[in-house]
Amino acid sequence: MGASAAHYLARAGAHVRLIEQFRIGHNRGSSHGESRIIRLAYPEPDYLALAKSAYALWRDLERESGATVYYKTGGLDFGVPEAETLIELARTYALNDIEHELVDANEMMHRYPQLKLPAHYTGLYQADYGMLHADRCVATLAAQARAHGAEICEEEPVLKIIVRADSVEVYTTKRVHHAARVVLCAGSWMRPLLQQIGIHLPLTVQNEQVVYMRTDQPENFAIGRFPIFIHRQPGTSSGGAGFPILGRNSPKFLYHAAGPRVEPDDVDRTPDAGLRERTRAFACSVVRGLTGEVDEAVACRYTMTPDEDFLIDRHPAYSHVILASPCSGHGFKFGSVVGSILADLALRGKTSHDISRFRLDRPALHNALRQ
Ligand SMILES: Cc1cc2nc3c(=O)[nH]c(=O)nc-3n(C[C@H](O)[C@H](O)[C@H](O)COP(=O)(O)OP(=O)(O)OC[C@H]3O[C@@H](n4cnc5c(N)ncnc54)[C@H](O)[C@@H]3O)c2cc1C
Repeated sequence: MGASAAHYLARAGAHVRLIEQFRIGHNRGSSHGESRIIRLAYPEPDYLALAKSAYALWRDLERESGATVYYKTGGLDFGVPEAETLIELARTYALNDIEHELVDANEMMHRYPQLKLPAHYTGLYQADYGMLHADRCVATLAAQARAHGAEICEEEPVLKIIVRADSVEVYTTKRVHHAARVVLCAGSWMRPLLQQIGIHLPLTVQNEQVVYMRTDQPENFAIGRFPIFIHRQPGTSSGGAGFPILGRNSPKFLYHAAGPRVEPDDVDRTPDAGLRERTRAFACSVVRGLTGEVDEAVACRYTMTPDEDFLIDRHPAYSHVILASPCSGHGFKFGSVVGSILADLALRGKTSHDISRFRLDRPALHNALRQ
């Protein structure tokens, strides 16, 4: 989010410094690895509108940089017919004229013989589903920011922020930066950073992971042969998910928001053994052609809000302090449009996108604090 905001700010001619505590592309936060899902598959109209803009802006980035970041794969949401997300998704697709197909379990397994699904499952197929190459997105955004004149300050942890009436001072391990405005996108480190400037939010951090499963038939899991899928379970935002192969020899699987809670400053990045086994068992239960062995499990941080909606707003008392934590395990795809929104908030004080769902003063954030 920070690299994207820096890109859009620098492209608009602002004088920008992107300050990162590690190196750009590090693996201790939330944005590393080969793949993240991008989808229009959101039942909520405001997320859907943002997703459409995000697709367009990732395409723009590809044109501007010459890098390929989006891989179209097609995608399936499937589960029991009473899963609320499937019902709402079908309604939103229909209301918004988004091409999709309603498919039963037989049809899903006919198209993708790698899947093994219960006979009563139903699914929605949407062709625009795809993967963003996460590492390449971050590297490309940072490179474009630099090309437009941004200064990138790496290995420079921010220690303290002092907000003045119309400026900010950002104290790092190396120096003090003076700026007219600041955009804070600290991922899983956001809660302690915001506390310093008087904002107390119930953001929690979870040690999630992705699990790459061995297969003797990698060609069956190539893009075009195997879709992205999300298992929608009643009563939750999603269950497990599977991805085609990108950049290695094994398909990827994960369980949404199932990892143990950790503190922002915990340095241990060991994947949780219980979650690794749960994800392995899930993959083997819905997919044929895996050897049953884990090739690699990689840890990654989720920053959770109580309602799983993002945080994108300005400081209630200081409009030159902008905050963003597009998180809860589904923010990456929006990185392009969120960067442009943050640039608009910083430069013009407003955005044409509907970000009211993400405001700081929403009840879900404050009721959770009072509990
Ligand atoms: C396992 C997993 C799977 C996911 N799958 C998907 C998916 O398929 N699709 C999707 O859309 N989203 C997905 N997400 C969510 C998505 O990856 C995140 O929402 C997104 O990466 C968050 O980006 P961020 O910029 O907020 O955080 P980060 O990428 O963590 O960036 C925050 C940065 O701030 C820096 N920082 C923090 N504190 C300081 C400080 N004091 N000084 C200087 N620098 C600091 C950090 O070092 C870090 O580089 C997934 C996440 C995980 C973990």
